[in-house]
Amino acid sequence: MIKSELQLRLRQLKAELQNATCVAVSKYSPVEDVVLAYECGQMDFGENRVLDLKSKADFFKEKNLNDVRWHMIGHLQTNKAKEVLKVPNLWAIHSVDSLHLLEELVKREHEFKGQELKIFFQVNTSHEDEKSGFLTREELVEALTFLLSRKESKLKVYGLMTMGAIRTDDVAASALKSFRELRGLKNELDLKYSLDLKLSMGMSGDYKQALLEGADYIRVGSLIFK
Ligand SMILES: *Cc1c(COP(=O)(O)O)cnc(C)c1O
Repeated sequence: MIKSELQLRLRQLKAELQNATCVAVSKYSPVEDVVLAYECGQMDFGENRVLDLKSKADFFKEKNLNDVRWHMIGHLQTNKAKEVLKVPNLWAIHSVDSLHLLEELVKREHEFKGQELKIFFQVNTSHEDEKSGFLTREELVEALTFLLSRKESKLKVYGLMTMGAIRTDDVAASALKSFRELRGLKNELDLKYSLDLKLSMGMSGDYKQALLEGADYIRVGSLIFK
């Protein structure tokens, strides 16, 4: 990629963000492009596969670029819990979608070398079958309270994540509906458990809607890197 083009795209996006943080989703890109974005001042990067995340994070580590913040955003199989925790400078996992996975992460947290790992609970607000995420409030609350009860854990309850619908006639309207639902859930849970949950929502096609609904983290890939 051409650095000046990348810089322009990042600047334009940043101008729209207000207080939100953009996680640049680098899953389409070779690590050289990720380094270019980092040199433009971008510090948060997301990957949806553990192997890619690990190899890019290792590359940064070898170059001593240690203020980078890596975000795991894709579906995580339980048997990859150990692997993801070993990723250097892992900052957050956005895709915790079951109590089972969370228990496995907590059980293996000694693999994690950082100070604190932020946990987003993924909620399936579009009710599409191929999407991961908690489908019922009961299961979500069960996982959330499990982690809240682990006060000594480095894994911290941090936020909620969702994705807008793909199969819809009106992407913008469906996205708004999903994001509104997530915000409603946040408000409810904040009140009940004295939290200040952050919202991870919005991608290249619907980040504007997400910002309207108060996203704290947007996850943008193709708009930056393609
Ligand atoms: C790929 C991906 C994104 C970014 O998608 P773009 O449409 O390229 O911006 C965001 N979130 C998740 C979970 C993804 O897998």
